[in-house]
Amino acid sequence: MRPRVAIVGGGLAGIAAALQLADADYQPIIIESRKMLGGRATSVVDPRNNQLIDNCQHVLMGCCTNLIDLYDRLGVIDTIQWHKELYWTLSNGEIDRVKANRLPAPLHLARSFTKMRFLNAKERKQIKKATWRIIRLGSKGRYNWRDRTFIEFLKYCKQDDSTISKFWNVVITSACNLDVKRVSAAHAIQVFQQGFLANRWSYTMGLATVPLVELYSTVEKSIEAVGGEIHFSTSAKAISFDGSRVTGVVTSSDFVEASAVIAAVPPDRLEKLVSHTIKAADNRLQALDRFQTSPILGVHLWFDQQVMDLPHLVIADSGVQWLFNKGTDDQSRQHLHAVISAADSWMELTEQEIVKCVMEDIHRALPKSIGIEPNQARSIKEKRATFAATPEIENYRPSAAAGYVGVGGGGIKNLFLAGDWCDTGWPATMEGAVRSGYAAALQITGQGGVVADVPPSFLARLLGLR
Ligand SMILES: Cc1cc2nc3c(=O)[nH]c(=O)nc-3n(C[C@H](O)[C@H](O)[C@H](O)COP(=O)(O)OP(=O)(O)OC[C@H]3O[C@@H](n4cnc5c(N)ncnc54)[C@H](O)[C@@H]3O)c2cc1C
Repeated sequence: MRPRVAIVGGGLAGIAAALQLADADYQPIIIESRKMLGGRATSVVDPRNNQLIDNCQHVLMGCCTNLIDLYDRLGVIDTIQWHKELYWTLSNGEIDRVKANRLPAPLHLARSFTKMRFLNAKERKQIKKATWRIIRLGSKGRYNWRDRTFIEFLKYCKQDDSTISKFWNVVITSACNLDVKRVSAAHAIQVFQQGFLANRWSYTMGLATVPLVELYSTVEKSIEAVGGEIHFSTSAKAISFDGSRVTGVVTSSDFVEASAVIAAVPPDRLEKLVSHTIKAADNRLQALDRFQTSPILGVHLWFDQQVMDLPHLVIADSGVQWLFNKGTDDQSRQHLHAVISAADSWMELTEQEIVKCVMEDIHRALPKSIGIEPNQARSIKEKRATFAATPEIENYRPSAAAGYVGVGGGGIKNLFLAGDWCDTGWPATMEGAVRSGYAAALQITGQGGVVADVPPSFLARLLGLR
């Protein structure tokens, strides 16, 4: 008999845990309230026209070693298109290109950045100085900044407001879904250290060329191969507990008995699944209500004419931060997707107002598009898109395993936690979610675990990026 492990939540954390368990000959039982896998990183059917669209564009980078490993296991790595050239503009029609030259990391992007026309000489010099500090800090120095915000670090590095709003805030708001005034400095520094400076490959941006839900099409087969199951459209109602161990999960239709439970849901959902008795028995569950969230707005736009030739565009100092070219649909319309992270001020707007503001930003960034309007638009507001990776919350992010927890030891031995909000060292990302799932499965099986980071180049290490 293979041991049964109940996994609440079929997002990336739950999927990652389930695949590792299946590899170790355990039986994963995923309980997922929706009809499809992928959680926040999936597709939705638009009820207005039954069209399958992605919840939002999801971007990965070359440094996301665990997510890449997961896509490889799922057999979908070839559907990820890697972009080595990144396009930027300052809403004036001028496009700057960022790509690696032949120099080793961390110098590989330096030439591109020093040529960026939207930054003046003073701003470029400031960025160079702060980047040097980021390199010299190494990962240990970064950790020492975890209790402070990134704006504090930037001020310490004497960055002007214009440099912050045109450069640092653009990168960090998109990467961490929180602006520089709120995000933990450690996470922001990590984005630059691991994403842009450590090695030549890490900055490369990966985009799925298929609807997100298709990335998970092989999960069910892998789970069924070991006798596991996926219970779709089934909500977990409670994790059951006998006073010392969890015994399974009460769902909307059944009781799933299990030798261990992995709760792979966001903290507000987990809060609803645990009784006072479970909470009292496990320190990891006592700070669930401390997690705040940050919203993301994704806007799908379809045009009868070609509006953008580039595959994507970062727009500095604008409401829309990122524009993605999703190609041409079966009605020969160009499909663009605009993304606004940390979108608090957009949440109260109507769809009509949103589309108007987004089009104004697009017209400024791509002047050739002036006069063109979309013939169809769909905005998707995710009010609780990610947890807010502030300095305050870092000490409350729990680890997967009982006994090693951010808020002090103790915990129920066969209850494991997963999700992008757990203590993975990453901000709220797909990579963080997969790491948490792998970490939870490792605690149960003693096998597998988190895939190592891409090592920094020799020169990067020599300069202090260790
Ligand atoms: C709009 C948007 C854009 C984003 N863009 C990016 C990006 O570009 N790059 C990036 O790396 N990350 C991005 N993220 C973040 C990324 O999507 C998440 O970090 C990641 O998907 C979290 O995975 P998870 O498994 O931890 O949680 P989730 O994806 O939330 O999975 C939890 C699952 O549990 C299910 N569930 C909840 N409660 C119950 C219950 N009671 N019973 C049963 N099932 C339940 C949910 O339906 C869900 O499927 C974005 C997120 C959003 C919302």
